[in-house]
Amino acid sequence: LFAGPVDFVKGVVAMSGLPPADRAEVCFAGRSNVGKSSLINALTGRKSLARASNTPGRTQEINFFDLGGQSYLVDLPGYGYANAPLDKVQKWQALLKQYLSGRATLRRAFVLIDSRHGIKAVDEEIMALLDSAAVTFQCVLTKADKLKSKELDKVLAQVREKLSKHPAAFPELIVTSSEKGDGIATLRAVIAGLE
Ligand code: GDP
Repeated sequence: LFAGPVDFVKGVVAMSGLPPADRAEVCFAGRSNVGKSSLINALTGRKSLARASNTPGRTQEINFFDLGGQSYLVDLPGYGYANAPLDKVQKWQALLKQYLSGRATLRRAFVLIDSRHGIKAVDEEIMALLDSAAVTFQCVLTKADKLKSKELDKVLAQVREKLSKHPAAFPELIVTSSEKGDGIATLRAVIAGLE
């Protein structure tokens, strides 16, 4: 799946712009600055693939990437920006809700959590949305290299505790570091297994 070329397909701002639901897809969600672009770049082995989705203008879009012509990797807009205008936030929440509840080919959502911060209130909001849309989601801890293993264990316990209250949560966590490469192969294998 990751062996072939990975290309940017399009950025979508309305349901009408979605590419046809003709193949499996997975999506990535996370607070701004969680390390989502770095993770997508590490996963796909392309240094600047997700940069496009981080440029101003692009941050409100749902960005579709083609994985070897077989699946879509979907980069959802980062959430939890300080000072984000309310009308923008509401607009993207509505789009996100429609996307999550109406996409039959969506196999799993990966919710990225910064290892240093654990699950925050804004993450819980997304998880509640995923619960109500019945989209299975799995948490991916990012930037694990920033913590000592004891500190990481503490965060993992907090994350597990919180996930136990979400019916759509897949219990297994994936701990990653885009910087060091930890967990990247595991995540690739999970995605390949969802096809
Ligand atoms: P995004 O806003 O979620 O797309 O986050 P970015 O991928 O742009 O990363 C935000 C910041 O975290 C950048 O300064 C990255 O260099 C840093 N970062 C991302 N992943 C890692 C990681 O695995 N380890 C470390 N130490 N820093 C990371």
